[in-house]
Amino acid sequence: MWEQITRDQVDTEMMAHGGSIIEVRRENQKWSVVPGSRFARRITAETEMRISGPAAGHDKMKTAADPTGTRVKGMINNCSGAVTPWGTWLTCEENFNNYFWGKGQLDKVAASAALARYGIPAEFYAWAKYHERFDVIKEPNEPNRFGWVVEIDPNDPASTPIKRTALGRFKHEGAGNIINRDGRFVVYQGDDERFDYVYRFVTSRAVDTVNRDANRDILDDGTLYVARFDSNGTGVWLPLLHGHGPLTVASGFADQADVLINARIAADLLGATKMDRPEDIEASPRTGKVYVMLTNNSKRTSQSTDAANPRPDNRFGHIIEITPDGGDHGAPTFHWEILVRCGDPSIAAVGATFNPLTSKDGWFGMPDNCAFDAMGRLWIATDGNGPATTGRSDGMWAMETRGAARGTSKLFYRVPIGAEMCGPFFTPDLETLFVAVQHPGESEEGAASTFEKPTTRWPAAPNSSNPPRPSVVAITRKGGGKIAT
Ligand code: CA
Ligand code: CA
Ligand code: CA
Repeated sequence: MWEQITRDQVDTEMMAHGGSIIEVRRENQKWSVVPGSRFARRITAETEMRISGPAAGHDKMKTAADPTGTRVKGMINNCSGAVTPWGTWLTCEENFNNYFWGKGQLDKVAASAALARYGIPAEFYAWAKYHERFDVIKEPNEPNRFGWVVEIDPNDPASTPIKRTALGRFKHEGAGNIINRDGRFVVYQGDDERFDYVYRFVTSRAVDTVNRDANRDILDDGTLYVARFDSNGTGVWLPLLHGHGPLTVASGFADQADVLINARIAADLLGATKMDRPEDIEASPRTGKVYVMLTNNSKRTSQSTDAANPRPDNRFGHIIEITPDGGDHGAPTFHWEILVRCGDPSIAAVGATFNPLTSKDGWFGMPDNCAFDAMGRLWIATDGNGPATTGRSDGMWAMETRGAARGTSKLFYRVPIGAEMCGPFFTPDLETLFVAVQHPGESEEGAASTFEKPTTRWPAAPNSSNPPRPSVVAITRKGGGKIAT
């Protein structure tokens, strides 16, 4: 099926993966990109990276190109991310299984069950045709070197990106974080797959808020946990620690590196709660409560529902609110409740639970990325609304989380047809909200789109000959001031 794909096409795709660092500046109320910035750089599927933390140098990380198991080329399928308090960028590898070949030949690979738990090989891209490292029959350990959180220092253009293995290997959606009251750094992470898990990483050391350099390798030491949501509204963070509970040599884990490389299998054994595709997770800077976006799960059946995932054929998703016990993000237990079940509240069968104060345009489906403003309002970006699902487009909604208006949402921004909304990020003065418009003009059920006849040419004018282009948008208030008060 890959006969037509040329090396040139594959190599172009590889350069189009990864991420970019650009410098932007606001002058006279207008944002612009700083041309020739010394910080500007492009990071691709071929950029040299370092592997650090407990899995660095492990036998399962070694390949022919890297017998040390400490160097890897590139990051792929980067999804949401985060900024750390010390000014680095955390970017997360999501559907990394799509790049690996080896279908029908897994009997030739010793770790075939471990690969299969991660959906490998998916053979969605043809990279292995020209780059053998993406063929698991030739290089069975290469998939172990993807599926990580990557830390990048945007202030040092010469710095090497670092894959932080202590945070575990899975299909990371984001890295929402908070400094705990004891100073330790806590990262909340979703594994975006039907029936996969919600994770939390807690550093061993406290963040140094004065000396930036002291935090350089803070993400290499700490404990990864996975969430179990019990039906009485309590929950437990189960540690992914080798030698603890079932995570032993007898059950196939040689050491801590093995637990982190195969975090999904470890979480299965620990009895974590299988969720409806956990996407972004963020902690409110106001209340310390944590919000989990669960986007949908078409495979959930009436036999497999549970208190935290209560809808069979969950097409519109829901949002869970976690309250850390004692206000401590390092605590072993928590309380939780569902903030809202999404979808059209005017259709009784949908079972949506928005606050009745929500207007007829105020509801949404498929929550994906999210952000908080300084007032503690939750901003939600969606992915999956369209002609065939909810009959409306994706966009950005703001939701109250407290008081009588809790669960009320309002439509703020709508993306062009075919696009999904992602990457909401407020400037500290709350005067600008950056958002990313992903794949405008993409074909979807009920709205076919081609290069010659796209459904939109956004951000160009409709009569332009430009193709539609994914773009970052800076939203400001007319006349200036805070976007929301
Ligand atoms: Ca996702
Ligand atoms: Ca998305
Ligand atoms: Ca999504």
